[in-house]
Amino acid sequence: MDRPDCVRTRALIDAAIDGELDAANALTLESHLAGCDDCRVLHAGRLAVASRIKVGAQRFVAPPGLRGRMLAALPQRAAPARRRSWPAIGAWSASAMALAASLALFVATPGPQDQLAHDLVEAHLRSLMAEHLTDVPSSDRHTVKPWFNGRLELSPPVPDLATDGFPLIGGRLDHVDERNAAALVYRRHQHIINLFVWPSPGAADRSVHSAGHNGYTVLEWTKAGIGYAAVSDLNADELGAFQRLWVTRAGE
Ligand SMILES: [Zn+2]
Repeated sequence: MDRPDCVRTRALIDAAIDGELDAANALTLESHLAGCDDCRVLHAGRLAVASRIKVGAQRFVAPPGLRGRMLAALPQRAAPARRRSWPAIGAWSASAMALAASLALFVATPGPQDQLAHDLVEAHLRSLMAEHLTDVPSSDRHTVKPWFNGRLELSPPVPDLATDGFPLIGGRLDHVDERNAAALVYRRHQHIINLFVWPSPGAADRSVHSAGHNGYTVLEWTKAGIGYAAVSDLNADELGAFQRLWVTRAGE
């Protein structure tokens, strides 16, 4: 457990959870995890905790009236006493624990948008791990865009962002939200960006919002019945810059 490799792996696990791992270190981590049960267990545990924290931090919206109900559930604060008796402290603790338990349950229940973010990250990871990043590997938008013709019920825009530091790598058919989706693959240094485009008929327009999951950044938006999402291990600032550029150039 304390071999030098394992010590180094623990640092890599932390970086991976924070979404700060480059491709070379991601490979190092992956190959170590494949051969070390201890580190694999540690990694799985950290992922599970991180995903719960992220879901809680980004999706926690208290329903109206919750604060009032919480306060009502607490024992009435007695007049200031010089000494609080032990039974009183016990009652406070029991109530606080019950509230904490019900809040934890509330936070951990994923909504449909969490499920979508989860599915998007899974699709992103599948594309990286299965060596199936592209069906049509090409940096030429005039090759990638027509490739989707007849394969999808929509024709995604494929803007060229190479001069802005986001070269196109290719395109792929994928699945998002139980529908066929176009996945456009871009690169930023060693980081892969999947830009998913899928039909979402009847869905209301939704401006771009962040739904990070397991250390990956997910930026989702909906426009004119089409769902879009950019997924990467890039940080939110860089992926945000990519997303704004993509939207601007897609409309040109
Ligand atoms: Zn190890």
